[in-house]
Amino acid sequence: MTANLLDYDLEGLAAFCERLGEKRFRATQLFRWLHQKGATDFAQMTDLAKSLREKLAGAAHIQGPKVVSRHDSADGTIKWLFDVGAGDVIETVFIPETDRGTLCISSQAGCAVGCRFCSTGHQGFSRNLTTGEIISQLWFAEHFLRQHLGREDRVISNVVMMGMGEPLQNYSQLLPALKVMLDDHGYGLSRRRVTVSTSGVVPMIDRLAKDCPVALAVSLHAPEDTLRDNLVPLNKKYPIAELLQACTRYQSSAPRDFITFEYCMLDGVNDQPEHARQLVSLVQAHAAQGLSCKFNLIPFNPFPASGLKRSDMPQVSAFAKILLDAGIVTTVRKTRGDDIDAACGQLAGDVQDRTGVEQRMAAQRQGMLGGIKVVVAKGMGV
Ligand code: SAH
Ligand code: SF4
Repeated sequence: MTANLLDYDLEGLAAFCERLGEKRFRATQLFRWLHQKGATDFAQMTDLAKSLREKLAGAAHIQGPKVVSRHDSADGTIKWLFDVGAGDVIETVFIPETDRGTLCISSQAGCAVGCRFCSTGHQGFSRNLTTGEIISQLWFAEHFLRQHLGREDRVISNVVMMGMGEPLQNYSQLLPALKVMLDDHGYGLSRRRVTVSTSGVVPMIDRLAKDCPVALAVSLHAPEDTLRDNLVPLNKKYPIAELLQACTRYQSSAPRDFITFEYCMLDGVNDQPEHARQLVSLVQAHAAQGLSCKFNLIPFNPFPASGLKRSDMPQVSAFAKILLDAGIVTTVRKTRGDDIDAACGQLAGDVQDRTGVEQRMAAQRQGMLGGIKVVVAKGMGV
């Protein structure tokens, strides 16, 4: 099997060129062909010598994702399902907004963390994605969208690692992919516009700060350890105090001056006024040590196996008000792509479980009747 060139960041590609007996600077040309122009074939790379193109064709290939399906939502959201082999399917979602285009990328097939409110978590862990499988979601979507929309300029301005999987449990493959996103010869995205979302893998938050500080979102979901242990099992290993200390440390290298806390609103579970008051105390205690944060309240996207319900809108608003009154910047995430199951936690596992179609549709109807369309601030909130 030859090398997939999408597996390399620029440094890795330079090393690959050296192994082929080529000058390292050739890698920059090659990298630009791959990521800026979306080349799928060496023959397209007309400014490379024919002899080099032939050499490359013998030693390497360009393997993009295998599309299983594409779903277009009425609101412009597009969801792709990609086959990554052995029955595993991952999901990528494009969310257009007036001032930006956000791509939500997967980092693993399944997830080992097993959060109670997440359909990926219920599926269990299958495997880590390779760097090529991570970055090719952006590679494919960016070049597809340019063609689809008839645009020559960049379409995707923001990337959020909020698809399937826990990115910080696949750190070695994630890191080169982040570098390609940021590289001026790659996608040239600013660090502020690339967000890693984590359920709280504390040592890897510190690694990320050192290796590649991008915007950080932390999935908090509870104000105290007993409840968080139950919702996000990783909390037993890295409890809230440790997690918030890691967030505080991260801030000195972070490209934004705040950490985003995601908080999935679960009816009767973590959405009571008391929980909001506990959050205020928690944040205030850590603010004294230098933590600066904002909250993004996510209306839960229900799926039958969870046994959980979405908080109703007055509950979400009351919760947000307590945080806001305490001076904490708080937004409520607008749900996008409801009609195509593209919202968080409604990931490709659903598609694999074809027997669940009826149940899913019922849950979706219920979700839509819930009518959580209110926008305090739009967007992915990052
Ligand atoms: N594993 C990482 C990133 C992927 S999940 C993490 O947990 O942060 C991305 C976000 O979607 C997380 O904040 C997660 O808590 C949220 N999420 C998962 N399932 C959801 C659901 N059913 N409804 C709403 N948000 C959900
Ligand atoms: Fe994994 Fe994130 Fe889902 Fe938790 S919410 S199971 S960490 S993908």
